[in-house]
Amino acid sequence: MGRKVTRIAQEKTAKRLCRSKKKANPMKRKISEISRSSASAKKIKTTQEFEVPEDAEKHYRIIHFLLVFNTISTLVKCVACGEKINFKSCDKQSLGFKIEVKCKMCSEKNYVPSSEKIDQKYEINYRFIFIMRLLGVGSSGCNKFCGLMDLGCTFLDYKSYERYFDKIIEIVENVANRFFSSAANEEKKETMKKNKTSDLTVSGDGSWKKQGFNSLYGVASLIGYYTGKIIDVAVKSAYCEKCKMWENKCKTAEFEEWYEDHVQKNECDKNHAGPAGNMEVNAIVVLLELFKRSMQKFQMMYKNYIGDGDSKTFGGVTNAKPYGENFAIKKKEYIGHVQKRMGARLRNLVKNTVQETKTKGKTIRKKVLSSKEKLTAKLIDKLTIYYGLAIRRNSDSIHKMRTAIWATFFHYSSTDEHPQHEMCPAGADSWCAWQRAFAANEEYQHDYPPFPRDVLEAIKPIYEELSNDVLLECCLGGFTQNNNESFNQLVWKIT
Ligand SMILES: [Zn+2]
Ligand SMILES: [Zn+2]
Ligand SMILES: [Zn+2]
Repeated sequence: MGRKVTRIAQEKTAKRLCRSKKKANPMKRKISEISRSSASAKKIKTTQEFEVPEDAEKHYRIIHFLLVFNTISTLVKCVACGEKINFKSCDKQSLGFKIEVKCKMCSEKNYVPSSEKIDQKYEINYRFIFIMRLLGVGSSGCNKFCGLMDLGCTFLDYKSYERYFDKIIEIVENVANRFFSSAANEEKKETMKKNKTSDLTVSGDGSWKKQGFNSLYGVASLIGYYTGKIIDVAVKSAYCEKCKMWENKCKTAEFEEWYEDHVQKNECDKNHAGPAGNMEVNAIVVLLELFKRSMQKFQMMYKNYIGDGDSKTFGGVTNAKPYGENFAIKKKEYIGHVQKRMGARLRNLVKNTVQETKTKGKTIRKKVLSSKEKLTAKLIDKLTIYYGLAIRRNSDSIHKMRTAIWATFFHYSSTDEHPQHEMCPAGADSWCAWQRAFAANEEYQHDYPPFPRDVLEAIKPIYEELSNDVLLECCLGGFTQNNNESFNQLVWKIT
């Protein structure tokens, strides 16, 4: 199973994809360049290769026992007396077993285990349960597989399966925590290098599995900004399989006794008492837990938090002051969410700007900004993308972001008589045709109609609002939450 674990191959494919996108239309090309320069480029820079020693000789094979060993039997002899050797499988424990090696003459028997053991249980069984679980197959699925494959056994009864599984959880938790620790240290080092502080910048996101109106399970993750690696994960469950089984015996003395033991052994899966249906409260509880334990777990604090637009969640965390009175946690906006605001504002504007006319006693409401040469849906999408690009491409400076945002506004207000391209980027490779022509010392004629006066006046307040210092400061750094989203997707895929 050991492989040289590297992301280089994936990155090569990603690069190839980006290259092929270049041939597409110029707008798409620009978007792909942006994403490359932020997320992927960062990944490439921080890629570390981990060597996992690989032994090609070490592997599992599925064999036909009788066929293989009967043949071997004709080829080998007893070292003591030279007689024929017989082979038999015995002492079966699910997929693990012993091979009994017995001479016809001497009474001596030898036993060869079919695989290594962990805690006196065959390694192959752990491996099988774990891998099947990753594929989304549980206990009864394992049994079906073994039956249908003629593996000579049903796999395991539920109780034994659980025992294996508890051990797997213990190991997985252990390994995951080591990974988290090392990722946190790596992130700390990078932060020290870049910001001269050990207070981290993390992106966070939570996701809940819904069942009806209740959310039974939730997972939240924090990912380091510079390394893109997961630093901490919290899993919340408002459900426990074992408790559920005891549900109808609840309030009996027998239950009380069992429950005390159940909780004491730390085997109750219910670790979340909050109202199961209330996602907002859930999100705060989980996030707060992750913040609170950062000191104890990694001796570090999270200074900047990149999260989605839901400021209530973040407010809930800051109000609880996980690091004491004097440590303020800053929120960084995820640009994708900020970009969406432009679209929403413009659409609302069109919806709410109506003119009422009365003819023959009837009132007719007309959306005055939605006509063909004004704010069409297509144009709104375009302006939204330009707004997002203006932030992404200039995320190192508030001033540059603001200039780029307003450039769109003035670019589209321009006419041949009154060109207003001062804010558009200069040079031969500018997106602005006027600036390109200017760089080449050529004449330029506007081939698009400028925005009508009433449109300009209506959208100006939106541009003012969405280019304010407070908002743009939150966008400094060009943060993304994509890592967390892909992690959540992966988790739900496995479960
Ligand atoms: Zn012998
Ligand atoms: Zn329980
Ligand atoms: Zn321009």
